[in-house]
Amino acid sequence: MPIRVLEPAVAAQIAAGEVVERPASVVKELLENAIDAAAGRIAVEIWGGGAERLRVVDDGHGIPAAEVPLAFHRHATSKLTAAEQLDAIGTLGFRGEALPSIAAVSQTAITTRPPTEDAGFRLELHWGEAVDSGRQGCAPGTAIEVRDLFGNLPARRKFLRSAGAEAARIQELVTRYALAFPAIRFQLSSQGRAVFSSSGSGQPREALAAVYGATAAAQMLEVQAADPDTGYSIEGFISAPSLSRASRTYLTFFVNRRLIQNRMLAFAVEEAYAGLLQVKRYPLAALNIGMPYADVDVNSHPAKREVRFLHDNAVFAAVQRAVRAALVAESPVPEVAAPTGESGRGRLYGNPRPSGGVSGLAPGGLSRPASGPAANPYIATAGATAGETGEMPDAAPDDSGFPLPGSGLLSRPMTPLKVVGQLRQTYIVAEGDAGMYLIDQHAAHERVLFERIRRQLQERQPLSQPLLTPASIELTPAQAETLDAGWEWVTGYGFAVEPFGGGYLLRAVPAILSGAAPETALADILDLAALQGPAARRREDIMAASIACHASVRAGQPLAAPEMTALLEQLEQAPNPHTCPHGRPTMIHFSSYLMEREFGRR
Ligand code: ADP
Ligand code: MG
Repeated sequence: MPIRVLEPAVAAQIAAGEVVERPASVVKELLENAIDAAAGRIAVEIWGGGAERLRVVDDGHGIPAAEVPLAFHRHATSKLTAAEQLDAIGTLGFRGEALPSIAAVSQTAITTRPPTEDAGFRLELHWGEAVDSGRQGCAPGTAIEVRDLFGNLPARRKFLRSAGAEAARIQELVTRYALAFPAIRFQLSSQGRAVFSSSGSGQPREALAAVYGATAAAQMLEVQAADPDTGYSIEGFISAPSLSRASRTYLTFFVNRRLIQNRMLAFAVEEAYAGLLQVKRYPLAALNIGMPYADVDVNSHPAKREVRFLHDNAVFAAVQRAVRAALVAESPVPEVAAPTGESGRGRLYGNPRPSGGVSGLAPGGLSRPASGPAANPYIATAGATAGETGEMPDAAPDDSGFPLPGSGLLSRPMTPLKVVGQLRQTYIVAEGDAGMYLIDQHAAHERVLFERIRRQLQERQPLSQPLLTPASIELTPAQAETLDAGWEWVTGYGFAVEPFGGGYLLRAVPAILSGAAPETALADILDLAALQGPAARRREDIMAASIACHASVRAGQPLAAPEMTALLEQLEQAPNPHTCPHGRPTMIHFSSYLMEREFGRR
């Protein structure tokens, strides 16, 4: 075939594919246009998950009648005039691609009126071709309606998920924007039913409450940091360590108020929580990173989802520092002194050093620089911190990777362990044939319950226990969607949930959860189930581990001797007693040899 230039309609469809992937991408572009038009109120209405029909109405500055057709031309924009301005983009849009792209793959109608004009203008397009236009009376602002998305591209349409799943994505998107723009009133309805609204009062906490619910919003900490030297500022909210989720879904980042995806930023936030959250728990955050326009390239992705930073490290450090500062301001975190020989700031929890032995037995070992022998990392652990501040999360934070020097491979104790006592209401001290064992009560219990849940699942034993009073629960749209898509497996773990009013009613929970907060456990397994990738293959284990974690005794919980004995007996029955289902050790071993050597008996 000879080389030919594609017909404009075909080229437009190809180009549209980059910008418009699904209904949520249409909504994103239309929201950004409304925000750029200085709207104070933006209403989004969707039907059939947005693919059937969606409408975005704003009260912004509108488009003069004469310019409306031009807005649907590729690379036509009012936001950029010269190439130099690409270095300083202050608006969300600038590529002039959204409207033509959307119009190329749908039936689009726009009605718009600048407040200064007496009447509005309406233009209708079918698959990119203008079919009708003319003057029309309307309120100031702009309304854009998009019907039958991808109706001319059946192959593309097939890739859309269920209406519920697409609606959930749109709701997630609108709520994220509501977090970034608390002064704008966002409203979302689906099938004519209102599903979300923010007040637009300008109070960020109100927006938080609208998105995360009042309870979670009350536990969010404010982040406020600005560095006059670099011009970087970080502001927004993060969760207190007492509030966490099972996945990273709840991390939202904006750069100069542009919603972006960026793994580095997620990592910076998680780093700031080092030692404050249990393993596999993630914080919530909604942060805006303000920076000079010249320091960020927003033009590296057609849907503008990703950005490139001029100084990655500076951004990382600024975010981590700001988040850390907010956490410390809330609950001062004692720091373990750096072991001798290591310069710089002390790590929160020291790593074991092979030569450490159990000598430098500095009591506490917190906050003070080590004088003399290195503070022993085994003694100054997270558990110790938890006991002292009372502010730490309910289970010992991750102190994994902590083999005891000299103990080598942990061999299974031959005789049953004998309980000696409880340490810091977190560890069980036990004696065995080969020396002393310290058992992390939470990790040990997790392992026991994990095995029990797996056995019950295999043997198809019922896990469920009805609640005396069914509890009404709040689920995010994404969680609700996961639930709707898989009632069976949720039931398999012992949860009985049914729709109730606009929300859900929890009727039964896994029996082992009695006493724990079952709503959180359910929300967590729904979040985990939605995760894609290799994790999905191990789904059953991940769910079981999550339920086991919720049901297990916490650090800080006093245990009676018979309880400890029973726990150790059950742990010894487990096929894999030395780690918890997340891979943390359940016990560490102080060998008789080690003790004798340290006391100079050998
Ligand atoms: P971009 O946003 O990159 O400029 P778009 O294709 O999204 O490109 O929009 C083209 C132009 O149409 C914008 O530059 C703007 O002038 C105008 N426009 C689009 N949506 C609106 C709106 N909701 N209110 C006012 N003007 C709008
Ligand atoms: Mg735009």
